Amino acid sequence: MKITFYGAAGEVTGSQHLVETERHRFLLDCGLFQGHRAESRAKNEQFLCDPKDLDAVFLSHAHIDHCGNLPGLYKAGFRGPIFCTPATAEIAEIMLLDSAKIQAEDARYLNKHVRGSHPSFEPLYTEDDVEKVMRRVETFEYRETYELDRGIKATMYDAGHILGSAITRFEIEDEGEIKRLVFTGDLGRRGMPLLHDPYPLQGCDILIGESTYGNRAHPPAPDVKHHLERIVNEAFESGGKVLIPAFSLGRTQQVVYYLNELYNEGKLPSVPVYVDSPLANRLTKVYERFQHLLDAQAQRSLIDDHNLFHFPGIRYVQSRDESKWINQMDGAAVIIAASGMCESGRIRHHLAHHIDDERNSILIIGFQAQHTLGRRIVEKQKYVKILDRDFPLRAKVEKINGLSGHADIVDMKWWYEHLAGEEGINHTFLVHGEPDSAQALADTIRDICNEDPIIPERGESYEV
Ligand SMILES: [Zn+2]
Repeated sequence: MKITFYGAAGEVTGSQHLVETERHRFLLDCGLFQGHRAESRAKNEQFLCDPKDLDAVFLSHAHIDHCGNLPGLYKAGFRGPIFCTPATAEIAEIMLLDSAKIQAEDARYLNKHVRGSHPSFEPLYTEDDVEKVMRRVETFEYRETYELDRGIKATMYDAGHILGSAITRFEIEDEGEIKRLVFTGDLGRRGMPLLHDPYPLQGCDILIGESTYGNRAHPPAPDVKHHLERIVNEAFESGGKVLIPAFSLGRTQQVVYYLNELYNEGKLPSVPVYVDSPLANRLTKVYERFQHLLDAQAQRSLIDDHNLFHFPGIRYVQSRDESKWINQMDGAAVIIAASGMCESGRIRHHLAHHIDDERNSILIIGFQAQHTLGRRIVEKQKYVKILDRDFPLRAKVEKINGLSGHADIVDMKWWYEHLAGEEGINHTFLVHGEPDSAQALADTIRDICNEDPIIPERGESYEV
Protein backbone atom coordinates (compact mmCIF):
# COMPACT_ATOMS: atom_id res chain seq x y z
CA MET A 1 0.00 0.00 0.00
CA LYS A 2 1.23 3.46 -0.84
CA ILE A 3 0.14 6.67 0.89
CA THR A 4 0.88 10.11 -0.56
CA PHE A 5 0.29 13.32 1.35
CA TYR A 6 -1.00 16.15 -0.82
CA GLY A 7 -2.20 18.59 1.82
CA ALA A 8 -2.35 19.32 5.55
CA ALA A 9 1.24 18.07 5.56
CA GLY A 10 3.22 20.31 7.91
CA GLU A 11 0.30 22.77 7.88
CA VAL A 12 -3.36 22.86 8.87
CA THR A 13 -5.27 23.44 5.62
CA GLY A 14 -5.83 21.59 2.35
CA SER A 15 -6.40 18.15 3.93
CA GLN A 16 -5.91 15.55 1.16
CA HIS A 17 -4.18 12.15 1.24
CA LEU A 18 -4.06 9.47 -1.46
CA VAL A 19 -4.20 5.77 -0.59
CA GLU A 20 -3.20 3.30 -3.32
CA THR A 21 -3.36 -0.47 -3.10
CA GLU A 22 -3.19 -3.21 -5.73
CA ARG A 23 -6.84 -2.58 -6.53
CA HIS A 24 -7.85 0.83 -5.17
CA ARG A 25 -6.99 4.48 -5.39
CA PHE A 26 -8.91 6.72 -3.07
CA LEU A 27 -8.59 10.11 -1.42
CA LEU A 28 -9.04 10.93 2.24
CA ASP A 29 -10.58 14.44 2.25
CA CYS A 30 -10.30 17.05 -0.48
CA GLY A 31 -9.92 20.34 1.35
CA LEU A 32 -9.14 23.86 0.29
CA PHE A 33 -5.79 25.42 1.07
CA GLN A 34 -6.35 28.70 2.88
CA GLY A 35 -4.00 31.55 3.64
CA HIS A 36 -1.86 33.67 1.34
CA ARG A 37 -4.00 34.27 -1.74
CA ALA A 38 -1.67 33.57 -4.67
CA GLU A 39 0.05 30.60 -3.07
CA SER A 40 -3.20 28.92 -1.99
CA ARG A 41 -4.76 29.63 -5.36
CA ALA A 42 -1.97 27.76 -7.15
CA LYS A 43 -2.25 24.77 -4.79
CA ASN A 44 -6.05 24.67 -5.11
CA GLU A 45 -6.00 24.81 -8.90
CA GLN A 46 -3.50 22.03 -9.46
CA PHE A 47 -4.28 18.51 -8.23
CA LEU A 48 -1.12 16.45 -7.82
CA CYS A 49 -2.95 13.23 -8.71
CA ASP A 50 -5.26 12.68 -11.67
CA PRO A 51 -8.86 13.03 -10.37
CA LYS A 52 -10.12 10.85 -13.26
CA ASP A 53 -8.19 7.84 -11.88
CA LEU A 54 -9.67 7.95 -8.38
CA ASP A 55 -12.19 5.33 -7.24
CA ALA A 56 -13.66 7.31 -4.32
CA VAL A 57 -13.24 10.03 -1.71
CA PHE A 58 -13.81 9.49 2.02
CA LEU A 59 -14.73 12.78 3.66
CA SER A 60 -14.04 13.23 7.39
CA HIS A 61 -16.14 16.36 7.99
CA ALA A 62 -17.58 19.49 6.46
CA HIS A 63 -15.03 22.17 7.37
CA ILE A 64 -13.85 23.87 4.20
CA ASP A 65 -10.22 22.87 4.73
CA HIS A 66 -11.40 19.24 4.48
CA CYS A 67 -14.21 19.32 1.89
CA GLY A 68 -13.72 22.68 0.14
CA ASN A 69 -12.12 21.45 -3.07
CA LEU A 70 -14.55 18.61 -3.89
CA PRO A 71 -16.22 20.73 -6.62
CA GLY A 72 -12.76 21.41 -8.08
CA LEU A 73 -12.10 17.66 -8.11
CA TYR A 74 -15.36 17.12 -9.97
CA LYS A 75 -14.46 19.81 -12.49
CA ALA A 76 -11.15 18.04 -13.06
CA GLY A 77 -12.93 14.81 -13.99
CA PHE A 78 -13.60 12.87 -10.77
CA ARG A 79 -16.82 10.85 -11.05
CA GLY A 80 -16.60 8.34 -8.18
CA PRO A 81 -18.62 8.21 -4.96
CA ILE A 82 -17.94 10.50 -1.98
CA PHE A 83 -18.52 8.72 1.32
CA CYS A 84 -19.44 10.66 4.46
CA THR A 85 -22.05 10.73 7.23
CA PRO A 86 -25.55 12.11 6.49
CA ALA A 87 -24.97 15.22 8.65
CA THR A 88 -21.66 15.91 6.90
CA ALA A 89 -23.40 15.62 3.52
CA GLU A 90 -25.94 18.30 4.47
CA ILE A 91 -23.45 20.63 6.11
CA ALA A 92 -20.91 20.22 3.29
CA GLU A 93 -23.48 21.25 0.69
CA ILE A 94 -24.31 24.42 2.64
CA MET A 95 -20.64 25.25 3.24
CA LEU A 96 -19.66 24.62 -0.39
CA LEU A 97 -22.51 26.74 -1.77
CA ASP A 98 -21.43 29.53 0.57
CA SER A 99 -17.81 29.10 -0.53
CA ALA A 100 -18.84 29.32 -4.22
CA LYS A 101 -20.82 32.49 -3.49
CA ILE A 102 -17.91 34.14 -1.66
CA GLN A 103 -15.52 33.21 -4.49
CA ALA A 104 -17.86 34.76 -7.06
CA GLU A 105 -18.10 37.97 -4.98
CA ASP A 106 -14.31 38.08 -4.52
CA ALA A 107 -13.74 37.60 -8.25
CA ARG A 108 -16.18 40.40 -9.08
CA TYR A 109 -14.46 42.70 -6.57
CA LEU A 110 -10.95 41.92 -7.79
CA ASN A 111 -11.89 42.33 -11.45
CA LYS A 112 -13.31 45.75 -10.63
CA HIS A 113 -10.60 47.05 -8.32
CA VAL A 114 -7.31 45.43 -9.38
CA ARG A 115 -6.01 47.06 -12.51
CA GLY A 116 -2.96 46.26 -14.60
CA SER A 117 -1.89 43.20 -16.46
CA HIS A 118 -3.76 40.67 -14.30
CA PRO A 119 -5.80 38.14 -16.18
CA SER A 120 -9.42 38.35 -15.10
CA PHE A 121 -10.09 36.59 -11.78
CA GLU A 122 -12.27 33.48 -11.89
CA PRO A 123 -13.80 31.58 -8.98
CA LEU A 124 -12.37 28.07 -8.48
CA TYR A 125 -15.88 26.70 -8.90
CA THR A 126 -19.50 27.79 -9.09
CA GLU A 127 -22.73 26.86 -7.31
CA ASP A 128 -23.52 24.68 -10.31
CA ASP A 129 -20.31 22.66 -9.77
CA VAL A 130 -21.29 22.21 -6.11
CA GLU A 131 -24.69 20.85 -7.05
CA LYS A 132 -23.11 18.38 -9.49
CA VAL A 133 -20.51 17.06 -7.06
CA MET A 134 -23.06 16.67 -4.25
CA ARG A 135 -24.89 14.13 -6.42
CA ARG A 136 -21.85 11.85 -5.96
CA VAL A 137 -22.36 11.64 -2.17
CA GLU A 138 -23.25 8.31 -0.53
CA THR A 139 -23.76 8.27 3.22
CA PHE A 140 -22.42 6.06 6.02
CA GLU A 141 -24.17 5.78 9.38
CA TYR A 142 -21.86 5.85 12.39
CA ARG A 143 -20.49 2.47 13.53
CA GLU A 144 -21.94 0.51 10.62
CA THR A 145 -19.39 -1.34 8.54
CA TYR A 146 -19.82 -0.98 4.78
CA GLU A 147 -18.31 -3.54 2.50
CA LEU A 148 -17.26 -1.80 -0.66
CA ASP A 149 -16.20 -3.65 -3.75
CA ARG A 150 -12.90 -5.41 -4.15
CA GLY A 151 -11.91 -6.19 -0.57
CA ILE A 152 -12.35 -2.96 1.27
CA LYS A 153 -14.43 -2.37 4.39
CA ALA A 154 -14.91 1.01 6.00
CA THR A 155 -16.57 2.19 9.22
CA MET A 156 -17.07 5.77 10.42
CA TYR A 157 -17.08 6.71 14.10
CA ASP A 158 -18.05 10.00 15.75
CA ALA A 159 -14.95 12.24 15.96
CA GLY A 160 -16.73 14.76 18.25
CA HIS A 161 -15.23 17.70 16.35
CA ILE A 162 -18.29 19.17 14.60
CA LEU A 163 -21.71 17.69 13.87
CA GLY A 164 -21.25 14.71 11.52
CA SER A 165 -17.46 14.55 11.87
CA ALA A 166 -15.97 11.09 11.48
CA ILE A 167 -12.93 9.00 12.20
CA THR A 168 -12.73 6.38 9.43
CA ARG A 169 -11.38 2.89 10.00
CA PHE A 170 -10.60 0.76 6.97
CA GLU A 171 -9.86 -2.93 6.62
CA ILE A 172 -8.12 -3.32 3.31
CA GLU A 173 -7.01 -6.50 1.59
CA ASP A 174 -3.58 -5.81 0.18
CA GLU A 175 -0.71 -8.11 -0.83
CA GLY A 176 -2.38 -11.10 0.82
CA GLU A 177 -3.05 -9.50 4.19
CA ILE A 178 -5.72 -7.39 5.85
CA LYS A 179 -4.43 -3.97 6.86
CA ARG A 180 -6.23 -1.75 9.36
CA LEU A 181 -5.92 1.90 8.41
CA VAL A 182 -7.30 4.66 10.65
CA PHE A 183 -7.79 8.26 9.47
CA THR A 184 -8.76 10.56 12.35
CA GLY A 185 -9.85 13.62 10.36
CA ASP A 186 -10.00 16.31 13.08
CA LEU A 187 -10.44 14.97 16.61
CA GLY A 188 -12.77 16.76 18.99
CA ARG A 189 -12.33 17.58 22.65
CA ARG A 190 -13.73 15.60 25.52
CA GLY A 191 -16.48 17.20 27.60
CA MET A 192 -17.59 19.82 25.10
CA PRO A 193 -21.21 20.97 24.79
CA LEU A 194 -23.53 19.26 22.29
CA LEU A 195 -20.95 16.84 20.88
CA HIS A 196 -19.91 13.39 21.98
CA ASP A 197 -16.33 12.72 22.99
CA PRO A 198 -14.22 11.31 20.14
CA TYR A 199 -15.10 7.60 19.84
CA PRO A 200 -12.30 5.52 21.36
CA LEU A 201 -11.07 2.95 18.84
CA GLN A 202 -8.60 0.17 19.37
CA GLY A 203 -6.34 -1.65 16.92
CA CYS A 204 -4.52 0.01 14.05
CA ASP A 205 -1.75 -0.95 11.66
CA ILE A 206 -1.47 2.35 9.84
CA LEU A 207 -2.48 5.67 11.38
CA ILE A 208 -2.99 9.00 9.64
CA GLY A 209 -3.60 11.19 12.66
CA GLU A 210 -4.19 14.89 13.20
CA SER A 211 -1.80 16.97 15.34
CA THR A 212 -3.27 20.51 15.34
CA TYR A 213 -2.74 21.14 19.07
CA GLY A 214 0.03 18.59 19.67
CA ASN A 215 1.96 21.19 21.64
CA ARG A 216 -0.85 22.72 23.65
CA ALA A 217 -3.07 21.94 26.64
CA HIS A 218 -6.35 23.86 26.58
CA PRO A 219 -7.61 25.58 29.74
CA PRO A 220 -10.46 23.62 31.33
CA ALA A 221 -13.74 23.91 29.41
CA PRO A 222 -15.25 27.15 30.70
CA ASP A 223 -18.61 27.48 32.38
CA VAL A 224 -20.06 29.33 29.40
CA LYS A 225 -23.61 29.17 30.65
CA HIS A 226 -22.85 31.11 33.84
CA HIS A 227 -20.81 33.71 31.99
CA LEU A 228 -23.67 34.18 29.56
CA GLU A 229 -26.21 34.43 32.37
CA ARG A 230 -24.26 37.24 34.06
CA ILE A 231 -23.53 39.16 30.85
CA VAL A 232 -27.10 39.00 29.53
CA ASN A 233 -28.55 40.01 32.91
CA GLU A 234 -26.20 43.00 33.11
CA ALA A 235 -27.31 44.06 29.63
CA PHE A 236 -30.94 43.67 30.64
CA GLU A 237 -30.43 45.96 33.65
CA SER A 238 -28.50 48.64 31.75
CA GLY A 239 -30.56 48.43 28.56
CA GLY A 240 -27.42 47.51 26.59
CA LYS A 241 -26.71 45.15 23.72
CA VAL A 242 -24.59 42.02 23.90
CA LEU A 243 -22.77 41.43 20.61
CA ILE A 244 -21.38 37.95 20.07
CA PRO A 245 -19.19 37.45 16.99
CA ALA A 246 -19.40 33.72 16.25
CA PHE A 247 -18.53 31.30 13.49
CA SER A 248 -21.67 30.08 11.77
CA LEU A 249 -20.81 26.40 12.10
CA GLY A 250 -20.57 25.05 15.63
CA ARG A 251 -19.96 28.09 17.79
CA THR A 252 -23.28 29.81 17.02
CA GLN A 253 -25.22 26.63 17.86
CA GLN A 254 -23.28 26.22 21.13
CA VAL A 255 -24.21 29.74 22.25
CA VAL A 256 -27.88 29.31 21.27
CA TYR A 257 -27.97 25.98 23.10
CA TYR A 258 -26.73 27.62 26.33
CA LEU A 259 -29.24 30.46 25.99
CA ASN A 260 -31.97 27.86 25.50
CA GLU A 261 -30.82 26.04 28.65
CA LEU A 262 -30.93 29.35 30.58
CA TYR A 263 -34.44 29.97 29.26
CA ASN A 264 -35.57 26.49 30.37
CA GLU A 265 -34.11 27.12 33.84
CA GLY A 266 -35.91 30.46 34.11
CA LYS A 267 -32.62 32.37 34.21
CA LEU A 268 -32.79 34.24 30.91
CA PRO A 269 -34.18 37.76 31.31
CA SER A 270 -36.76 38.88 28.82
CA VAL A 271 -34.48 40.20 26.06
CA PRO A 272 -34.76 39.51 22.35
CA VAL A 273 -32.02 37.26 20.94
CA TYR A 274 -31.16 37.70 17.26
CA VAL A 275 -29.12 35.21 15.27
CA ASP A 276 -28.17 37.40 12.35
CA SER A 277 -26.45 35.15 9.82
CA PRO A 278 -28.26 33.40 6.97
CA LEU A 279 -25.46 30.80 6.84
CA ALA A 280 -25.75 30.06 10.58
CA ASN A 281 -29.53 29.81 10.20
CA ARG A 282 -29.24 27.18 7.47
CA LEU A 283 -26.71 25.24 9.56
CA THR A 284 -28.82 25.42 12.72
CA LYS A 285 -31.65 23.72 10.81
CA VAL A 286 -29.27 20.80 10.17
CA TYR A 287 -28.50 20.67 13.91
CA GLU A 288 -32.25 20.54 14.56
CA ARG A 289 -32.70 17.65 12.12
CA PHE A 290 -29.80 15.71 13.64
CA GLN A 291 -30.51 16.31 17.35
CA HIS A 292 -30.32 12.53 17.87
CA LEU A 293 -26.55 12.77 17.25
CA LEU A 294 -26.00 15.19 20.14
CA ASP A 295 -24.46 14.17 23.46
CA ALA A 296 -26.08 12.72 26.61
CA GLN A 297 -26.70 16.11 28.25
CA ALA A 298 -28.51 17.32 25.12
CA GLN A 299 -30.55 14.11 25.03
CA ARG A 300 -31.66 14.74 28.64
CA SER A 301 -32.76 18.26 27.69
CA LEU A 302 -34.66 16.87 24.69
CA ILE A 303 -36.96 14.87 26.97
CA ASP A 304 -38.78 18.09 27.94
CA ASP A 305 -37.83 20.37 25.06
CA HIS A 306 -38.20 19.15 21.49
CA ASN A 307 -35.97 21.85 19.97
CA LEU A 308 -32.76 22.93 21.70
CA PHE A 309 -32.21 25.85 19.31
CA HIS A 310 -35.54 27.59 19.77
CA PHE A 311 -37.14 29.43 22.68
CA PRO A 312 -39.55 32.37 22.95
CA GLY A 313 -37.63 35.56 22.20
CA ILE A 314 -35.12 34.10 19.72
CA ARG A 315 -35.32 35.24 16.14
CA TYR A 316 -33.33 33.96 13.18
CA VAL A 317 -32.75 36.95 10.93
CA GLN A 318 -32.58 36.42 7.18
CA SER A 319 -32.92 39.65 5.24
CA ARG A 320 -30.52 42.58 5.14
CA ASP A 321 -33.39 44.96 5.88
CA GLU A 322 -34.28 43.18 9.08
CA SER A 323 -30.60 43.15 10.05
CA LYS A 324 -30.48 46.94 9.60
CA TRP A 325 -33.72 47.35 11.53
CA ILE A 326 -32.16 45.62 14.57
CA ASN A 327 -29.51 48.34 14.64
CA GLN A 328 -32.10 51.06 15.08
CA MET A 329 -33.85 49.37 17.99
CA ASP A 330 -33.56 50.69 21.51
CA GLY A 331 -33.24 48.53 24.58
CA ALA A 332 -31.40 45.41 25.63
CA ALA A 333 -30.79 42.63 23.11
CA VAL A 334 -28.39 39.81 22.30
CA ILE A 335 -27.05 39.74 18.75
CA ILE A 336 -25.10 36.72 17.51
CA ALA A 337 -23.57 37.23 14.07
CA ALA A 338 -20.73 36.05 11.85
CA SER A 339 -17.85 36.20 11.39
CA GLY A 340 -16.06 34.85 14.42
CA MET A 341 -13.06 37.15 14.02
CA CYS A 342 -15.17 40.17 12.91
CA GLU A 343 -13.40 40.35 9.53
CA SER A 344 -16.51 39.95 7.41
CA GLY A 345 -20.26 39.39 7.75
CA ARG A 346 -22.99 41.33 9.49
CA ILE A 347 -21.24 41.57 12.87
CA ARG A 348 -19.23 44.52 11.50
CA HIS A 349 -22.38 46.60 11.06
CA HIS A 350 -23.57 45.81 14.57
CA LEU A 351 -20.14 46.68 15.97
CA ALA A 352 -20.10 49.96 14.03
CA HIS A 353 -23.45 50.90 15.61
CA HIS A 354 -22.78 49.82 19.17
CA ILE A 355 -19.07 49.78 19.94
CA ASP A 356 -18.96 53.37 21.20
CA ASP A 357 -21.62 52.91 23.91
CA GLU A 358 -20.42 51.77 27.33
CA ARG A 359 -23.75 50.08 28.15
CA ASN A 360 -23.00 47.47 25.48
CA SER A 361 -20.79 44.38 25.71
CA ILE A 362 -18.83 42.47 23.11
CA LEU A 363 -18.43 38.82 24.04
CA ILE A 364 -15.47 37.12 22.37
CA ILE A 365 -15.72 33.33 22.48
CA GLY A 366 -13.08 32.13 20.05
CA PHE A 367 -9.46 32.47 19.06
CA GLN A 368 -8.72 35.83 17.38
CA ALA A 369 -5.86 35.72 14.86
CA GLN A 370 -3.36 38.55 14.56
CA HIS A 371 -4.29 41.52 12.38
CA THR A 372 -8.04 40.89 12.70
CA LEU A 373 -10.66 43.29 14.04
CA GLY A 374 -11.49 40.68 16.69
CA ARG A 375 -7.89 40.76 17.96
CA ARG A 376 -7.92 44.56 18.18
CA ILE A 377 -11.12 44.40 20.22
CA VAL A 378 -9.66 41.76 22.57
CA GLU A 379 -6.60 43.98 23.01
CA LYS A 380 -9.02 46.79 23.93
CA GLN A 381 -7.43 49.29 21.58
CA LYS A 382 -8.81 52.79 22.17
CA TYR A 383 -9.96 53.20 18.58
CA VAL A 384 -10.72 50.48 16.08
CA LYS A 385 -11.34 50.71 12.35
CA ILE A 386 -14.61 49.16 11.17
CA LEU A 387 -15.73 49.40 7.54
CA ASP A 388 -13.07 52.09 6.92
CA ARG A 389 -14.10 54.35 9.80
CA ASP A 390 -12.51 54.80 13.22
CA PHE A 391 -14.69 54.17 16.27
CA PRO A 392 -13.87 54.65 19.96
CA LEU A 393 -14.05 51.32 21.78
CA ARG A 394 -16.23 52.11 24.81
CA ALA A 395 -18.28 48.91 25.01
CA LYS A 396 -17.20 46.34 27.62
CA VAL A 397 -15.13 43.48 26.22
CA GLU A 398 -15.74 40.04 27.72
CA LYS A 399 -13.80 36.94 26.78
CA ILE A 400 -14.47 33.23 27.24
CA ASN A 401 -11.54 30.96 26.39
CA GLY A 402 -11.38 27.23 25.97
CA LEU A 403 -14.21 26.43 23.56
CA SER A 404 -11.88 24.98 20.92
CA GLY A 405 -13.31 22.17 18.80
CA HIS A 406 -9.94 20.43 18.59
CA ALA A 407 -8.43 17.88 20.94
CA ASP A 408 -5.42 19.20 22.85
CA ILE A 409 -2.35 17.15 23.75
CA VAL A 410 -4.09 15.65 26.81
CA ASP A 411 -7.07 14.41 24.75
CA MET A 412 -4.81 13.23 21.93
CA LYS A 413 -2.59 11.26 24.27
CA TRP A 414 -5.69 9.56 25.71
CA TRP A 415 -7.14 8.79 22.27
CA TYR A 416 -3.94 7.60 20.58
CA GLU A 417 -2.92 5.45 23.56
CA HIS A 418 -6.31 3.77 23.48
CA LEU A 419 -5.94 3.19 19.73
CA ALA A 420 -2.53 1.58 20.20
CA GLY A 421 -3.74 -0.80 22.93
CA GLU A 422 -1.17 -3.46 23.92
CA GLU A 423 0.03 -4.13 20.40
CA GLY A 424 1.09 -0.59 19.42
CA ILE A 425 0.66 1.18 16.07
CA ASN A 426 2.89 -0.08 13.27
CA HIS A 427 3.05 2.97 11.00
CA THR A 428 2.18 6.45 12.24
CA PHE A 429 1.84 9.53 10.03
CA LEU A 430 1.09 12.84 11.73
CA VAL A 431 -0.68 15.41 9.59
CA HIS A 432 -2.77 18.58 10.02
CA GLY A 433 -0.37 20.41 12.31
CA GLU A 434 2.32 23.06 12.11
CA PRO A 435 5.76 21.39 12.35
CA ASP A 436 6.18 22.24 16.08
CA SER A 437 2.81 20.74 17.01
CA ALA A 438 3.32 17.59 14.95
CA GLN A 439 6.79 17.13 16.47
CA ALA A 440 5.49 17.60 20.02
CA LEU A 441 2.81 14.97 19.42
CA ALA A 442 5.39 12.60 17.87
CA ASP A 443 7.52 12.94 21.03
CA THR A 444 4.48 12.30 23.24
CA ILE A 445 3.26 9.13 21.49
CA ARG A 446 6.62 7.66 20.38
CA ASP A 447 6.38 4.90 23.04
CA ILE A 448 3.14 3.50 21.63
CA CYS A 449 4.40 3.43 18.03
CA ASN A 450 6.27 0.39 16.78
CA GLU A 451 8.16 2.60 14.33
CA ASP A 452 9.11 6.23 14.77
CA PRO A 453 6.18 8.53 13.84
CA ILE A 454 6.62 10.24 10.47
CA ILE A 455 5.69 13.86 9.79
CA PRO A 456 5.29 13.84 6.01
CA GLU A 457 5.88 16.80 3.74
CA ARG A 458 3.61 17.74 0.87
CA GLY A 459 4.01 15.35 -2.07
CA GLU A 460 5.88 12.65 -0.13
CA SER A 461 4.88 9.01 -0.58
CA TYR A 462 5.41 6.06 1.78
CA GLU A 463 5.05 2.31 1.21
CA VAL A 464 3.49 0.50 4.16
ZN1 LIG B 1 -12.22 20.71 11.26
